[in-house]
Amino acid sequence: MTEKSPITGTLVWYYAICPRECWLMAHQIEPERDFDLLAEGRLNTEAHYEREKKEIELPGGVKVDKVRREGGKLILSEIKKSSKFLPAAMLQLAFYLWTLEQEGVEAIGEVLVPEEHKREEVSLEGEMRSELIRALEEIPKLIDQPKPPPAKWIRYCNPCAYAEFCWSGGTVEQDS
Ligand code: SF4
Repeated sequence: MTEKSPITGTLVWYYAICPRECWLMAHQIEPERDFDLLAEGRLNTEAHYEREKKEIELPGGVKVDKVRREGGKLILSEIKKSSKFLPAAMLQLAFYLWTLEQEGVEAIGEVLVPEEHKREEVSLEGEMRSELIRALEEIPKLIDQPKPPPAKWIRYCNPCAYAEFCWSGGTVEQDS
């Protein structure tokens, strides 16, 4: 068995997309090499866009695209190419806000999708905090499992770097 990773923003992101992908990433099981996927035109534009961005690093391993102060508040911004992964981006940003909160820093977040003129505010108020706490409880249990959860076909499978690994001969269980 490969070494397990601690919880990171990346794992929170993958957990929100697909628990199986989160397990595979946590166990450092390498997906298909990106250049193979690019050659096949299968790497999604969002993933490519993410690689080209320059991020700002804050304490606690927090990595965001922009940081500013507005009316005395710290605002962390994430910029996305599309809203396809918006729920995952929001949960990841909530994790970063929570990480800063542990350091005594209060902040709010926003996910910006310039091409869709969209802005989603993220804060630890209400349901978002509960959702994050649930994820933080579930991720260690998930990655402690000796095997990944079975593959289940979801809308993110098609561009996923693990698609070959998950679907090279398996049975497709459709997402509801
Ligand atoms: S191919 Fe689908 S089931 Fe497999 S890791 Fe990717 S998103 Fe999850």
